[in-house]
Amino acid sequence: MASGEERDQSPAQCKSCHGTGEIANEYGPAACPDCGGAGYLPSAHVLVEWRARDIERAHAGSGGNTGGDVRWLLAELRRCREALTEVSALAQELDEGPISSRIRFKVNQALRLYDVVSEKKP
Ligand SMILES: [Zn+2]
Repeated sequence: MASGEERDQSPAQCKSCHGTGEIANEYGPAACPDCGGAGYLPSAHVLVEWRARDIERAHAGSGGNTGGDVRWLLAELRRCREALTEVSALAQELDEGPISSRIRFKVNQALRLYDVVSEKKP
């Protein structure tokens, strides 16, 4: 790879706090809710879990059917993500080949553990 074509590997700076990790609210400075105070955004995989926790906090204790429905849906989400993580780990143990690559690619599409970048042909 020639210089100038190198891909920036640093994580994306949080747009909400402009990388400072803090936001100002009526009580003074506080940790940015979008990046957790880090100043940069974690992987999409982590963001999904953070969003799931936000939804859980906001709705899991709700009355009626809503709380139970939210708890059930989040349990299903986490069970499926855990199973896909296990499938990915098992695919890592297979010999390198088109099937193991497709399994890992499809799992990553669902879990978004890694950014996918297309390789430029020379
Ligand atoms: Zn932030």
